[in-house]
Amino acid sequence: MAMLEDRPTRGRGFDSTCPATGEVVGSFPLDGPEQVAAAVARAGEGQRRWAELGFGGRRRALAAYKAMLVRRTDELVALVHRENGKPHADALIEVVLSVEHLDWAARNAARVLGRRRVRSTMLLANHAASVEYQPLGVVGVMGPWNYPVLTPLGSIIYALAAGNAVVFKPSELTPAVGCFLADAFADAVGDPPVFQVVTGDGTTGHALCLAGVDKVAFTGSPATGRKVMVACAERLVPVVLELGGKDAMVVDADADLDAAAEQALWGGMANAGQTCLATERVYVVDEVYERFLARLVERASRVRPGGGPGADFGPITLPRQLEVIRRHLDDALARGARALVGGPDAVRPPYVDPVVLVDVPADALILREETFGPVLPVVRARDAGHAVELANANPYGLGAAVFAGRRADRIARALRSGMTSINSVLTYVGIPSLPYGGVGESGFGSVHGPDGLREFARPKAITRQRFPLPFGMQSFDRPGFVLPAVRQAMRLRHGHAPRTPRR
Ligand code: NAD
Repeated sequence: MAMLEDRPTRGRGFDSTCPATGEVVGSFPLDGPEQVAAAVARAGEGQRRWAELGFGGRRRALAAYKAMLVRRTDELVALVHRENGKPHADALIEVVLSVEHLDWAARNAARVLGRRRVRSTMLLANHAASVEYQPLGVVGVMGPWNYPVLTPLGSIIYALAAGNAVVFKPSELTPAVGCFLADAFADAVGDPPVFQVVTGDGTTGHALCLAGVDKVAFTGSPATGRKVMVACAERLVPVVLELGGKDAMVVDADADLDAAAEQALWGGMANAGQTCLATERVYVVDEVYERFLARLVERASRVRPGGGPGADFGPITLPRQLEVIRRHLDDALARGARALVGGPDAVRPPYVDPVVLVDVPADALILREETFGPVLPVVRARDAGHAVELANANPYGLGAAVFAGRRADRIARALRSGMTSINSVLTYVGIPSLPYGGVGESGFGSVHGPDGLREFARPKAITRQRFPLPFGMQSFDRPGFVLPAVRQAMRLRHGHAPRTPRR
């Protein structure tokens, strides 16, 4: 593969391998502080010219990148399949959604970030006011392996559209995909070199935090997110953290149970459950619990993992995750849970068979910590309020789903999560105008949508005096009556409490 061989080997290197077969996909340098600093410097030089292109020039460049990704989709999908292990269909979904985000960010950056006039106040009515969002400079992006296209591009695209350059460190499990994304940008846009890639493990990521970047966009586990934040604190580098999840689904009494079961299964087991937004807990109200479960079990019994074209999901990409899944499963079974699909032998490296668990006690690991496997615990709740209470009793708060009729909206708003979908799972990822980000252990800050563009920009406020007033507040020479007059004006404008208290 030309793009991999073209990269000079610096210092020690590492291989990425196919999780299904062990075949080597590519060899990459383990970039250290020197190489990372050089990449940041190159990006910084390019950024000045990128910013000068303005919104229109960047929109055209990003449109060229979009067209390049579309033309090379088959190649990218095949590479994701080889390096991450997921089926071609799942890889294709990632690319399709990424292209939608690329299109939206390029087309909307000017509207969201461009200069606009804002209202002044009565006291400063002789001043015009405007706000615009200027680029930060160079953004360091660190990504995980589970969605090696969509997740990093969710930051990279929005950072570029806002006028920044990017230095991207892909996961050490999916460096070939990371290099592909940067190489495709270079092929489509060429100069300026605003999308740089460095490869390596956590040491390379750590070096990127310290390399003089103006912001870090990190996606990964909460444990690593904390380390990134500590490293960035040293130089006051701002961070946006997109971390793990333990997403809940609530199924109310008037839900469409077929749809709920079908989506719980897909949300929990697509990509072998290795999705930050995977449905990892299902809370079903007592009234429909048995009926929902029968539908889920029937469907889950038909789902199969594998490496071939007929497989519903692929292998576990990160070998040590198999131990986590096994531990969560064993812990639940030891505490009295029952497996209605699969069982203790579900973990067959590199695959895990689908598991549906019931009677899981609330303190079981599988209801508290991220499992990242195709294991779905289903919990009985008294009613929708109880289901929400159980769902919210978890430190994570990334996404959530509700299957309900009448109470759907109320439940969706009550769930403690950054995003919630009603009568579907994960839909918010595919709507680029929505923000995406979590609360609690799931991180903070947003990517996607207008908030995602602003995450990679700093607001710049400007006022312009249109005409001078004979007397102003801001002068040592102001006459004695000015402040009493201003005080009186304040009293008249703001001194009256509303007659009926607002609710
Ligand atoms: P991870 O935290 O192990 O690694 C993420 C990235 O950080 C990798 O590129 C890694 O090399 C790098 N890294 C490791 N140590 C570092 C350090 N000290 N300093 C800087 N960088 C360092 O996570 P992972 O196993 O790659 O991904 C799985 C996790 O990511 C799961 O928790 C999943 O839920 C989460 N995730 C979250 C989202 C989201 O949008 N919120 C999306 C995908 C994955």
